[in-house]
Amino acid sequence: MNEPLSADVVVIGSGIVGALVAQRLALQGASVLILESGPRVGRDRLVANFRNSPRKSDFMSPYPFSAWSPHPVYQPMDNDYLVQAGPYPYKAEYIRIVGGTTWHWAAQAWRVLPNDLRIHSL
Ligand SMILES: Cc1cc2nc3c(=O)[nH]c(=O)nc-3n(C[C@H](O)[C@H](O)[C@H](O)COP(=O)(O)OP(=O)(O)OC[C@H]3O[C@@H](n4cnc5c(N)ncnc54)[C@H](O)[C@@H]3O)c2cc1C
Repeated sequence: MNEPLSADVVVIGSGIVGALVAQRLALQGASVLILESGPRVGRDRLVANFRNSPRKSDFMSPYPFSAWSPHPVYQPMDNDYLVQAGPYPYKAEYIRIVGGTTWHWAAQAWRVLPNDLRIHSL
């Protein structure tokens, strides 16, 4: 990337939220640039990584770790990337590659709950 780039809107992150925002803006005629910190990794590579992984129960194992765009890694060793200071530590996972954590999608489509429509007042 040697040329300077410009756009009406710059979206940071290429996960589902960034992608949806970028698409909606583009459909309304805006020029949009998505900046993603992680590498682009093809589905074929991720599937091969999963097949070759000895740690199938570790959902993070197929996704390459990059020092410039770090994400949590728990096996074989916790990289302690997330600081768990609260009373209920939770080993949250997220992925920093092009496409973001959506690569993890486990096919659960939760229904909207009544409180989801009262977020302002709650
Ligand atoms: C194992 C697992 C299973 C899941 N299964 C489901 C499911 O079945 N159903 C469901 O509804 N949800 C599921 N989720 C949750 C869902 O995947 C996430 O809520 C969703 O993908 C989050 O999308 P996002 O766009 O907000 O963030 P992300 O997808 O995390 O995107 C953020 C992006 O921004 C990039 N980024 C961050 N900082 C910067 C920066 N400074 N500069 C440039 N780029 C940056 C990151 O690299 C990343 O690509 C699951 C999550 C996990 C971990």
